[in-house]
Amino acid sequence: MKRTVYADNNATTKVDERVVEEMLPYLSEYYGNPSSMHLFGGQVEKKLAEARERVATMLNAEPTEIVFTSCGTESDNMAIHSALMSAPEKRHIITTKVEHPAILNYCKHLSKRGYGVTFLSVDRQGMLDLNELYDSIGDETAIVSIMYANNETGVIFPIDEIGKIVKEKGSVFHTDAVQAAGKIPLDLQKSDTIDFLALSGHKFHAPKGVGILYVRRGTKFRPLLIGGHQERGRRPGTENTASIIAIGKAAELAQASLHDELTRVKAMRDRLEQELLARIPDSVVNGHPTLRTPNTLNISFKYVEGEAILLMLSEQGIAASSGSACTSGSLEPSHVLRAMGVPFTYSHGSLRLSLSRFNTEADIDDIIEKLPPIIQRLREISPFGREKEEPK
Ligand SMILES: *Cc1c(COP(=O)(O)O)cnc(C)c1O
Repeated sequence: MKRTVYADNNATTKVDERVVEEMLPYLSEYYGNPSSMHLFGGQVEKKLAEARERVATMLNAEPTEIVFTSCGTESDNMAIHSALMSAPEKRHIITTKVEHPAILNYCKHLSKRGYGVTFLSVDRQGMLDLNELYDSIGDETAIVSIMYANNETGVIFPIDEIGKIVKEKGSVFHTDAVQAAGKIPLDLQKSDTIDFLALSGHKFHAPKGVGILYVRRGTKFRPLLIGGHQERGRRPGTENTASIIAIGKAAELAQASLHDELTRVKAMRDRLEQELLARIPDSVVNGHPTLRTPNTLNISFKYVEGEAILLMLSEQGIAASSGSACTSGSLEPSHVLRAMGVPFTYSHGSLRLSLSRFNTEADIDDIIEKLPPIIQRLREISPFGREKEEPK
């Protein structure tokens, strides 16, 4: 088989083999319902409690503050829904223009249902104006939902500073930390202004279809699904036992490999960034120079089309992304790059390379060797042409 390089880890990650090993018996031998009073249930129940403890340890939280869900999207929706239902008189939500669709589209949906929504702007480096945030929060603000790290650019928001402002103004704070897990330290004792925090298993080497919502003790809670007593009534439905056990193991491994992520993975990303900037003229990095997740490089090449780069990279066995996975296939430039004010001639030629602990230096060499000639070839046949003006 042809050598392949997977550099699309912000879209999804490879399930760690140790995670697969941990979950497999719970798809075969141990099939009990954890709610059952007999021994079949008991075996699984114990293992679920262990998974909850592992996740709590990763977050420096209490096991009772962890709710297992079906995905990051569900966790995000749940947090906002809960805050709105807990304070029905408050009809205002604050979020940002650069959120994942799990937040952005839910907020747009709510704005059509009579809620007021403030979408905060970002600057050219993808950063928020905290004064704008301060001024936006009012007595009617039910929740402020601001992501921890951006999926497209890796930009990390100053979550503790944001949380302080939200608390000073007396609102509820949710953060979508799906892109932060396993990449930067998360500590819910230290970050004590966070009320809700969402994670997704498949972004940190667990399977797809399992997520986490952290709910700080004492936070008012109203469930999205109504049914049984599972997850203390916060998320009814018979538990996805094997996947919950998997996400517990993945949390343990994420904690153990955090140092590797912050050093080796970051060094690979930095080398990739420096080499591509040096070898490809008219290229720029999108995002903050330092406040970025260690695995993510979003880079734009003037006069080329991102989709074309992806296809040609894919032919050479390299998997990457142009913007978010959900919008690829459409020719609209990414909403994140647009919010940052990246010029049209650059935003169309954007490429996201996102690494993980499973990448090697050989992968980086491969990208550095194959990408520059692709850009050169595309520029020779570019429909944009070097003379073409920015559309007004
Ligand atoms: C992937 C992602 C989600 C959605 O998670 P799913 O488990 O795929 O629903 C939400 N927010 C961010 C920032 C993401 O990257």
